[in-house]
Amino acid sequence: MAITPVVHAIRVLERMVPPGGLLLDAAHHDFSGQRGFHGAVKRNALARRIEDFTTWANHEALTHDLPGQTIAQDPHGKVGLARFRRTLAWHIARRPGGLIALAIQYGHMRTVLDARTSTGYGSRDRRGIHGVLDVETALAAADTAARLRDRLAAGEKISGPASRRAVTAAATTPQFEGRIVPATFAKKAAAFLARDGIVLFDNPDTFLICAFKHDNALCDPDPDATAPRQYACKTGCGNTVRTDAHALQMRQRADEIDQLAAHAPDPIGKRLRANAARLRETAYIHDATAQTAEALT
Ligand code: SF4
Repeated sequence: MAITPVVHAIRVLERMVPPGGLLLDAAHHDFSGQRGFHGAVKRNALARRIEDFTTWANHEALTHDLPGQTIAQDPHGKVGLARFRRTLAWHIARRPGGLIALAIQYGHMRTVLDARTSTGYGSRDRRGIHGVLDVETALAAADTAARLRDRLAAGEKISGPASRRAVTAAATTPQFEGRIVPATFAKKAAAFLARDGIVLFDNPDTFLICAFKHDNALCDPDPDATAPRQYACKTGCGNTVRTDAHALQMRQRADEIDQLAAHAPDPIGKRLRANAARLRETAYIHDATAQTAEALT
């Protein structure tokens, strides 16, 4: 499964290499010839490609008079493959919904990467992109738990079938101070994520926190997945949690949708108004059922 720009990229690559060849083979992509043209392009060539991409993107941004879209100089040096991989993992871990096309692509990548033993992407060991994705997902989950802890401490109420688990998770999840990530952290991150039922995943696009318990999940995660398929989140799931902030955000979104509906032709306007009504109803259910953290412990 791939979104249109990715399909286009693959089609271009297919035209660059001989039939049956690797899409990124060194013979056709590593022009400096440092590798003797065997196998796929390696780290150095890919690092150069990332630099070339940055130059191209900045040129495009300036050509289209979009200076805010340029990629800034990095004080820590060149991006390189490891940091590019981590950026990718950051997006997969922290943008579960986002723009629809990207959500599909990132969601698909997570699904593929979570099915570690059943895909050609590698084995269960924690090197490479699997480990990096675990690290970013664990950091994102720890941030979600910390934010929930702060909200509850500030007096916000919580609702949803997984409220009790979420309160426990918020109280017990360790905070990862700073972001220096040694190689050994990947194993810790994988163990952190394997605590089924008490790892919290923020899902801002559906206005909820997912307290992921594999057996409850309605989004059909792979058998060995330690994270939900948030882009396929389903209403009525037993892992759902909402706070007062989510209810407020839902009402604000409903108002925005109503404004759009006022300027939309009838069938679309009707659908938008129905969406807005659903959001308000969910916010109302939250208000009617929410409890304090103390009441749940
Ligand atoms: S369907 Fe359930 S498990 Fe899946 S993302 Fe939504 S709340 Fe989480």
